[in-house]
Amino acid sequence: MSIVIRNGTIVNADHTFQADVYCEEGKIVAIGQNLDVPSTAEVVDASGQYVMPGGIDPHTHMQLPFMGTVASDDFYTGTAAGLAGGNTTIIDFVIPAPGEPLLEAYNKWRDWAEKSASDYSFHVAITWWDESVHADMETLVKEHGVNSFKHFMAYKNAIMADDEVLVKSFRRCMELGAMPTVHAENGELVFQLQQEMLNKGITGPEGHPLSRPPIVEGEAANRAIQIAQVMDVPIYLVHVSCKESVDAITRARNDGQRVYGEVLAGHLCIDDSVYRNEDFEFAAAHVMSPPFRPKEHQNALWKGLQGGNLQTTATDHCAFCAEQKAAGKDDFTKIPNGTAGVEDRMAVLWDEGVNTGKLTMNEFVSATSTNAAKIFNIYPQKGSISEGADADIVVWDPEGTRTISAKTHHQNVDFNIFEGRTVKGIPSHTISRGKVVWANGELKAVQGAGRYVDRPAFNPVFEALNKQAELNEPTAVKRG
Ligand SMILES: [Zn+2]
Repeated sequence: MSIVIRNGTIVNADHTFQADVYCEEGKIVAIGQNLDVPSTAEVVDASGQYVMPGGIDPHTHMQLPFMGTVASDDFYTGTAAGLAGGNTTIIDFVIPAPGEPLLEAYNKWRDWAEKSASDYSFHVAITWWDESVHADMETLVKEHGVNSFKHFMAYKNAIMADDEVLVKSFRRCMELGAMPTVHAENGELVFQLQQEMLNKGITGPEGHPLSRPPIVEGEAANRAIQIAQVMDVPIYLVHVSCKESVDAITRARNDGQRVYGEVLAGHLCIDDSVYRNEDFEFAAAHVMSPPFRPKEHQNALWKGLQGGNLQTTATDHCAFCAEQKAAGKDDFTKIPNGTAGVEDRMAVLWDEGVNTGKLTMNEFVSATSTNAAKIFNIYPQKGSISEGADADIVVWDPEGTRTISAKTHHQNVDFNIFEGRTVKGIPSHTISRGKVVWANGELKAVQGAGRYVDRPAFNPVFEALNKQAELNEPTAVKRG
């Protein structure tokens, strides 16, 4: 099984050049001009097109059991839709119920993900704490290729991690060489504001953003970053949606702290007016947390991405159909939180970013693939067109167009938050593990073809930091 991509322009995060790419057994084995390859190799002609690392969406929730229902895209339909959009790897989340042993939850998610069409990996959420959690984190890092743990600062009375859990888990991450990540929203404020809205008779989706204003996210972002500062551990903020969070990250980075920020394609392009739409189905379809924000925040997010204070783009793909969203018909707090987009992220970002001059092509590759691979320690196996890397490649047609619609998308959901948007710049071919799985509009995804990606701990950096921490250990004062 071998493929050669001819006549294309390779765009990596660091440089752009003309060359053919030859792949064998799922790996890139040769890059060069006019490569001499076996005559049996399948040929993909990339004339006039860009050959880029396949996308990595570091934030998805396929078939997530949440708020009394289960997300409608499973690991097969969701990853297949991702392939149609040029996305070749997802990092999803194992979310143990409070009290559920971490390894039990991890094994459950691994079973569900067996049917994935693209490669996948898992962050594991820390939703509660005891000695078994402390121990299982080590097993996950050392034996199961997990190097990141997620903390929900929101969702009080469910999966919320309070400060005690944050402090204990961040310290444990540091010892193990794993990256702590946070969903930054003050769960107590959200809970209280939700009750206030309901008491005022605001029961529709317009209550959703009113109960989660930007400052609620900003407070949690600042708190998480400063807890990480005290613990001297790096930190990654998922779905940064507002200026307050970008400012918190920027301040910390200027101060030398290792802080990373992720932004969603949706938050970059959609504003909060969607919640005031009179059609409940339309408004409810946009309910996700954090919510879409007033327009000025989009500007701040783009600047964060352009200035390098936000490094990755994701979708938080978590699809729910209209009948599922209807659970919150009379109470917005019961609308399942989540929107889709794994299929659209790259095209939307190209169209709104590269076509407008906000991002260079190389910055686009960084933001859609390479930076996630680096931050989650799978670079250059992923996120790079280089010899020895996985043959996860997207051939990008900058002249191709598509009008995004729920009627034609491959995601298993009846709504698309980018509905009606015509994007210029689309994948003509997606190659996953050396196989063409998307070609000129034809999806050839194979159920179960994706593999689990081990992500090793960040030992070299963390060991040095841990050693430094020991040196700085305060000593007891001897008093006479
Ligand atoms: Zn999420």
